[in-house]
Amino acid sequence: MNETAPFRVRAEIDLAALRANVRALRAHAPDAAFMAVVKADAYGHGMVPCAKAAVQAGAAWIGTATPEEALALRAAGLPGRIMCWLWTPGGPWREGVEAGLDMSVSAPWALEEVTAAAREAGRTARIQLKADTGLGRNGCMPADWPELVAASLRAEAEGLVRVTGLWSHFACADEPGHPSIAAQLTVFREMVAYAEGEGIRPEVRHIANSPATLTLPETHFDLVRPGIAMYGVSPSPEVGTPEDFGLRPVMTLTASLAHVKHAPGGHGVSYGHHYVTPGATTLGLVPAGYGDGIPRHASGTAPVLVDGKWRTVAGRVAMDQFVVDLGGDEPEVGAEAVLFGPGDRGEPTAEDWAQAAGTIAYEIVTRIGSRVPRVYVNERPGIGEM
Ligand SMILES: *Cc1c(COP(=O)(O)O)cnc(C)c1O
Repeated sequence: MNETAPFRVRAEIDLAALRANVRALRAHAPDAAFMAVVKADAYGHGMVPCAKAAVQAGAAWIGTATPEEALALRAAGLPGRIMCWLWTPGGPWREGVEAGLDMSVSAPWALEEVTAAAREAGRTARIQLKADTGLGRNGCMPADWPELVAASLRAEAEGLVRVTGLWSHFACADEPGHPSIAAQLTVFREMVAYAEGEGIRPEVRHIANSPATLTLPETHFDLVRPGIAMYGVSPSPEVGTPEDFGLRPVMTLTASLAHVKHAPGGHGVSYGHHYVTPGATTLGLVPAGYGDGIPRHASGTAPVLVDGKWRTVAGRVAMDQFVVDLGGDEPEVGAEAVLFGPGDRGEPTAEDWAQAAGTIAYEIVTRIGSRVPRVYVNERPGIGEM
């Protein structure tokens, strides 16, 4: 799909904005390497084009949740370091070793599987030991750390693995001043010091996600791992706006009105008739619904820019479509309805949708579905430092 082709709904992905965001984030952490987090199809923006753009703007590392995502990046020709962290038993360790991935290990079962894969492949596996410093999700608890470190050192001595990193993840870095931030940093420093004291020699120690990269320089260590901020979306309104950090939203979600009509007062709109026209008006049909990732929780609340004016979703968001009350205006069928974008044409932002739907902007962009074509603009060919 090209930039000028007619469309039902489309997500325009501005790769120049993404590259500029990577450069802005690197300037916030000038002494750290940069890992571009592109899990979940780059938060809905498209994994491979976004990973390439991030590499063009100086990302030395790419991060994904699942090994399948990491292997897909390698298969697409992404060079350099690719790390993935969400493994389950029986995962594609052997493929990971052969693709030269950096594979996170949080527990002895994972170390056993990765060493077996390295033995079969006849190749040293790169692993990164993940510490649970207080998030309470994945990662090795402090009490279990000595055992994991010792087993990793034995596997290193056999040439089966190389521990390339020691790392962790924050629970509340998006809540400025939250006491868990300092507590997690203390535990991280202790767990790193223990592992290094035992003889682990990591290339990189890292814990900083987007909010930590933007606001907590003491968390940068050797590498930062921003996700959401790279897409120009703030991790939370409490942390700041994208502009505060020199970031620009990358995704603009636009639809073409599929129908425009006059309706009398008292006319029920969409399933359940939760909206009834307050008087004679015009209605516009936006051909996108929860089947496209438009949150149904935004029914009756979320904003849409049509013909220079903010309109509100009238009644329920259905699977494929929703309606806006155009207040008597008569835009032509096919007119542009901008659901969200950077905001500088007066359109709402993903953050506005998040507030309308009672969620976070991460979820708004990430859930835009596969039925919505991504249209890449300002793509640059090739991979290499600009
Ligand atoms: C998703 C994720 C990130 C990026 O988080 P953002 O808040 O989007 O910056 C970093 N590290 C890990 C382990 C993650 O799962």
